[in-house]
Amino acid sequence: MNVFKYSNDNKRYHTLAFEGRVYKACINAGLSCPNYCIFCSEKSKLFTSEGSITEQLIKEKERIFKKYGEVPLCAYFQSGTNTNAPVEKLKELYDEALNFEGVTSLSIATRFDCLGDDVLDLLSDYNNKVPLTVELGLQTIHREDYSLFLEKYEELKRRNIKVCLHLMDGLPGETEEMMIDTAKVVGKLDPDALKIHLTYVVEGTKLCEMYKTGKYEPMSFDSYVSTVVKQLEYIPAATVIERLTGDGDKRTLVAPLWSTDKIKVLGTIDKLFASLDTYQGSKYNKNAL
Ligand code: SF4
Repeated sequence: MNVFKYSNDNKRYHTLAFEGRVYKACINAGLSCPNYCIFCSEKSKLFTSEGSITEQLIKEKERIFKKYGEVPLCAYFQSGTNTNAPVEKLKELYDEALNFEGVTSLSIATRFDCLGDDVLDLLSDYNNKVPLTVELGLQTIHREDYSLFLEKYEELKRRNIKVCLHLMDGLPGETEEMMIDTAKVVGKLDPDALKIHLTYVVEGTKLCEMYKTGKYEPMSFDSYVSTVVKQLEYIPAATVIERLTGDGDKRTLVAPLWSTDKIKVLGTIDKLFASLDTYQGSKYNKNAL
């Protein structure tokens, strides 16, 4: 018998597999960020032309159909900040994706400091037409602009737009307690979906300089696994956990190298959940202070 309501296998957290897979066709629309996070490696990508939206979707469709057969596609605006342009330009980009045969939904990754009222209205319009998810990078609640995040998150929820929040473990200066506090606070927001990322040290980033000069220590395997399990205890069971390991570029990854063994990371998370006999949401209490 499954111990966890949202699982049909040995998972003790609510996976996308349980919900029904979404086939994401990844798009780089070339939209940059207003400023760059110290760990980010996207900058270099944004200056690399990957072709028009349609050209990218043709390639992605081929890749996905080859692997999974003819499935509905979600156009995933992944790289950079995909609301960082005038709304007319954004509309052109989103429409081009939606007009591509086989695309039935939209997923738009962005930052909360790039969600002006005009953009929120535009997203609302799309949300009324097609399934839309906004992927919102929060990373941690221990940041000066957390109140701005909250304001924008609530605006999205008021407009019934699905939100997938991104958290990041192992940021410089963060302790395990701080990461767990982030999960406690985020859990109470009842996000539709959540991704937890590990902080990678990637060649060419500011974080890489810090690492090479001994100013940054990446998380250990054991510490990441146990932090993730503790964090998920505070996330409501209904929240879909879309990701617990990243897909860092192995060619530019400097540390931690253990992160490349995704199967081991996920398997150890499952084992730890079972050995502690705990599961996602076991400590979730919306009304607790
Ligand atoms: S918001 Fe995302 S893409 Fe932009 S700099 Fe930060 S991590 Fe990179």
